[in-house]
Parts: sequence; C-alpha cells; structure tokens
Amino acid sequence: MRKKLIAGNWKSNGSLELNKALLEGIVGAKALGSVDVVVCPPFPYLQSVGNVISGSMVELGAQNCSATEEGAYTGEVSARMCADIKCSWVIVGHSERRALYAENDEIIARKVKRVVDSGLTPILCVGETLEERESGQAEEVTLKQLDAVFLSVQPHESWVVAYEPVWAIGTGKTASPDDAQSMHKALRNNIRKHFPQIADKIRILYGGSVKSSNAKELFSMPDVDGALVGGASLVSEEFVSIIEAAVE
Ligand code: PEP
Repeated sequence: MRKKLIAGNWKSNGSLELNKALLEGIVGAKALGSVDVVVCPPFPYLQSVGNVISGSMVELGAQNCSATEEGAYTGEVSARMCADIKCSWVIVGHSERRALYAENDEIIARKVKRVVDSGLTPILCVGETLEERESGQAEEVTLKQLDAVFLSVQPHESWVVAYEPVWAIGTGKTASPDDAQSMHKALRNNIRKHFPQIADKIRILYGGSVKSSNAKELFSMPDVDGALVGGASLVSEEFVSIIEAAVE
C-alpha cells in the first residue's frame, strides 16, 4: 500500500515570523507518522525551516532548482546546495514555472536529473490548461509531460508525480474526485507501460485548490496518493486538517 503524502508549496510567501507560527501547528500534528508531510518554503527560508522541523517527522522540500551545476550562473540555486542544507525533495515543473519562466519539458528533465544526481527526490508536476481540457487534449498533454521526464531520466519508485490541472491551481475550482482518479489512473498506466516494476509504488498526488472540505473525498480515490497544496498550506489549521484527512 502506498503511504499518503501531503506536500505544502508555500510559493513566494512567508517571513521568519510567519513561518514559525505556521510550523508550530504542523510539527505538532498527530497524524505525522501515518502520513508523510513535506513543507516547501522559498529558498531563503529553507535552512531556518529545516532547523524548526528538525527532529519532527516533517520533511523539507525546495520549490525549484537550477538545471545547471554550480558555477557562473548568477542567481541560480543548485540541487546539490539544496541537499547540502538537508532538503529531501524538490518540486520540479510546477505550472507557474512552466508558464511564467518558460520552463519546457527539456529544461524540466534536466532539473530532475540534477535533483536525482544530488540524492534528492523530485515531485514532478504535470497537468493541462483549461483550453487543453476543453479541446479534449487533457490526457495527451499530461502524459506527454510525464514521458518527457520518465523517458529521459531513469525513474525510481520513490519519485512523486503531482497531477495539477492548471485551471484548478489557486482558482478555488477543484477537479472532481472522478476526474482526478481518471487522470491518475492514466498516469499510472502510462508509467506501467515502460516501467511495470515501479508503477504501483510511485505516488501520484493531486494538486489544485485542495482544502480540508474536499480533501477526504479526493483521497478516497484509489490512485490519489495525497496532495500538493498551495494556498491552504499557508494556514496551519487548514493544512493540518488536510493531513488528517489523509489518515487511512
Ligand atoms: C500549487 O501551487 O501547487 C497548488 C496546488 O496551489 P493551490 O492549492 O493554491 O491551488
């Protein structure tokens, strides 16, 4: 059985003071242990958040990393640096990175390679836009994003895929549990085609306006293994309720 995973993507939010208050509730959550929990603060806060969660069962993730190694790349943060400060996870291919910073599948595959080579685990985001869904291309687009990475970097069963329909991110609109299940199943079957030995072990998270009020129903779907949570991960009680909803 796959253990559920709840990851909080803080995006470009937080301050030393706010982070501390937010983390107090999360590190005390009773469901830790039954559910894997990851928090992904902005780069400048990784180390201080790492210090606060140290000794708890909450793990640390970065929201991005460079496609390059260290060197003359002003402003870049390498995966190895994230590993150095005790990150375990890196979100790669978030739709905001794809849309706002022109990250294409080739760049995303290079980033995943850096993440893996640095001993970290990727949370690979895939998902279609509203236009793509309305024109019947949702599955084709999403599977293509998955293949672009899985067929260029040897995947491992510890990897995590996050299905995040772009139209559901930060909009308050959530995919119905049936629509989420249908895409998660398609993703898992696609993994099975090329990597049958890991298909049933890889966790596939749903992301897109997950809140305490819709989490339980989404998590009851057989191929939904948890959530990547944006807005609701910034409110301690909300995030803890989502974690609790994932307890089997
Ligand atoms: C996200 O940014 O990954 C996300 C799912 O955001 P939200 O939960 O706010 O829709």
